[in-house]
Amino acid sequence: MNSLYVYYTQVIFLCFVIINHLFEIYLSRRQVTTLHQNRGSVPEEFRNFLILDDHQRAVNYATAKLQFGQKRLVWDVIMLFIWFPMKGAEKLYMALPESGMHKEVLFLLSFFAIQSLLSLPWSLYLTFVLEEKFGFNKTTLKLFFTDRMKGLVLGLLLGVPLLYGILWIFRSTGSLWWLVSFVFMTAVQFSLVWLYPTVIAPLFNKFKPLEGEELKHGIENLVTRAGFHAKEVFVMDASKRSSHGNAYFTGFGKNKRVVFFDTLLKDLGTNEILAILAHELGHMKLKHIPKSLVTSLILSFLGFWIMGRLSTESWFYGGHFIKVMAPGPLFLIFLQAIPMYTFWFGPISAYVSRKREFEADAYAAEETNPQFLISGLLKLYQQNASPVVTDKIYSGFYHSHPPALERIKKLESFVKA
Ligand SMILES: [Zn+2]
Repeated sequence: MNSLYVYYTQVIFLCFVIINHLFEIYLSRRQVTTLHQNRGSVPEEFRNFLILDDHQRAVNYATAKLQFGQKRLVWDVIMLFIWFPMKGAEKLYMALPESGMHKEVLFLLSFFAIQSLLSLPWSLYLTFVLEEKFGFNKTTLKLFFTDRMKGLVLGLLLGVPLLYGILWIFRSTGSLWWLVSFVFMTAVQFSLVWLYPTVIAPLFNKFKPLEGEELKHGIENLVTRAGFHAKEVFVMDASKRSSHGNAYFTGFGKNKRVVFFDTLLKDLGTNEILAILAHELGHMKLKHIPKSLVTSLILSFLGFWIMGRLSTESWFYGGHFIKVMAPGPLFLIFLQAIPMYTFWFGPISAYVSRKREFEADAYAAEETNPQFLISGLLKLYQQNASPVVTDKIYSGFYHSHPPALERIKKLESFVKA
């Protein structure tokens, strides 16, 4: 009976691996087709803002990234096959000396070390060939590797104690280990979201308050109405890595921030900066960060509960091509194989995110003149060479932000009202 379970699980798992990746490649090809069908001319709605040269540059850039992504997807399938059906993960576990907790930690660390080494050529190509070709890259090899080293040190400093913590819980709290782990991980997650703006992000970038005589009054006005402080609005030196522009909001409670990339600011007028600030403040005012934290809390509770149930089922390990019933392999399966099953929920979270973007836009339209948010957004598109056309299904599956046309139409409806 058990070996039948193992066999079925293996077949189902491999079907998911293959179907998901084929589907992703299919979506990517749809997007490439849509972009190319619209390459010849700027869509009518954008003709007043966008010249053909910029439109075609955006189409070429997006196509290059999509084609890169398709190759990466093929590579990912190969890696999954090496780790699972070809038993790379099981062999790695067996090959390690030691026993007890150290072996589990060593297993997971070696897995991630191998994975990140193998993905290094991809990142290098993306930054120094693809981004470079379109004039976005500002990173030097030195900065690239310094970033990697910082990330590695941070990952080890956080990851190793965390792993030992979870393994200790696994060993000592019996059948309720999943619940205790859930509480532990939740506390860690909240602390990280809390610490990110003031402790983690400054390790990689410099932040200074957004200032300027002309801006000052407008900012004061907006932030006070949103229940914010002007000192929580920052500029980040994004230009040292790339010329892509953006703005984001982060943190919660007393540790919240709105951050502008210096790259974005240089192209925007005062009114556009204020309109984009109002959009970010809208996310804050509408409590989008606490709401996402609650959702992820519920999902992570479910995840740990399922992990607790499955941790004692030998077919679950065998079904993912690892015979050893130990916490290391269990966590590896959860981190690498389970996303194959949850892949199909992706569009739901993209949908929720797009809905929140519309809400933040509506807030900004009320607080400032929506015309300035439209022109600010169009500059953002232009600066990042983001195409203004998109395939509907592709966008529905992946995009955390609404398509340009829908978003601008909605904003225009506020102008007339
Ligand atoms: Zn937003």
